[in-house]
Amino acid sequence: MDDKIIDGKLVSEKIRGEIKIRVDELKNNSSSVPGLAAVLVGDDGPSQIYVRNKRKACENVGIYSEEHKLPEDTSEDDLLNLINKLNNQKNINGILIQLPLPKHINETKVLNSVNPDKDVDGFHPVNAGNLFEGKPSFIACTPHGIVKMLEHYKIEIEGKNAVVLGRSNIVGKPAAILLLQKNATVTICHSRTKNLEKVLSEADIIVAAIGRANFVKDSMVKEGAVIIDVGINRLDTGKLAGDVDFQNVISKSSMITPVPGGVGPMTITMLLWNTLQSFEKSIS
Ligand code: NDP
Repeated sequence: MDDKIIDGKLVSEKIRGEIKIRVDELKNNSSSVPGLAAVLVGDDGPSQIYVRNKRKACENVGIYSEEHKLPEDTSEDDLLNLINKLNNQKNINGILIQLPLPKHINETKVLNSVNPDKDVDGFHPVNAGNLFEGKPSFIACTPHGIVKMLEHYKIEIEGKNAVVLGRSNIVGKPAAILLLQKNATVTICHSRTKNLEKVLSEADIIVAAIGRANFVKDSMVKEGAVIIDVGINRLDTGKLAGDVDFQNVISKSSMITPVPGGVGPMTITMLLWNTLQSFEKSIS
């Protein structure tokens, strides 16, 4: 069964190794390195862990990072002022706004205030629009990581039926566009999709990103399908589960990502990648 696993950790390590080599080179040649600023408002537990992991990942490849932890009652204006400062800060090439933001802050307004040239999450409408048009852009890290994994394992995309389960702006929609750019025939499913099981059962590639533990069952999957599980769900037992019933689906799939150890590590890796790209662009 091990030969069916799409190992996100392994692909991540390879790409992070390449990033580190390039950052070391930049450090030796110009003594400047890419910089990432993470902005966290409030004390949401998982968000604190994500930001810490991102900082560690930066350190490991030599990317400079700084964290801006703001209290829960920070005003929208104060947050916008900080982003404006980071937009103009020379040693910062990427700005990450950790979501969710507290309810009194307009998330769209805040994300749109990030300079698109430093929008390493790929959430700004300029980058989303460029992706839509097939122009160079910062691609949202999770879907970008998915494509990198498919490429690493030389999984054929062209002409395949790809079904993306979920239509969020940060995962489902950009994943669908990327697969379309690679010439898959793409179907996007969501909570109002009729005959979901039938649509899934015709897929050569499934990207599941709905946030429902073990939702995709073996009965919904075609023999030999490639399964990418984006979901991260905490079970009552405290264990993590994806959106795919991994234990049963693995035997029907040709390749499958585990949770954890699949898409997750790739998301952070592509953030590092985008930060390096932003730096390279700033010096070119
Ligand atoms: P959202 O909640 O923004 O979107 C969920 C999508 O799933 C919506 O489009 C929704 O449909 C659809 N959906 C929900 N329930 C069903 C259902 N029963 N049948 C069909 N469609 C359904 O989630 P995200 O895209 O942000 O995240 C999805 C999952 O991926 C989560 O578990 C999240 O934690 C995980 N994630 C993991 C990352 C990683 O690095 N591994 C990164 C980002 C997210 P509708 O639009 O109709 O409401």
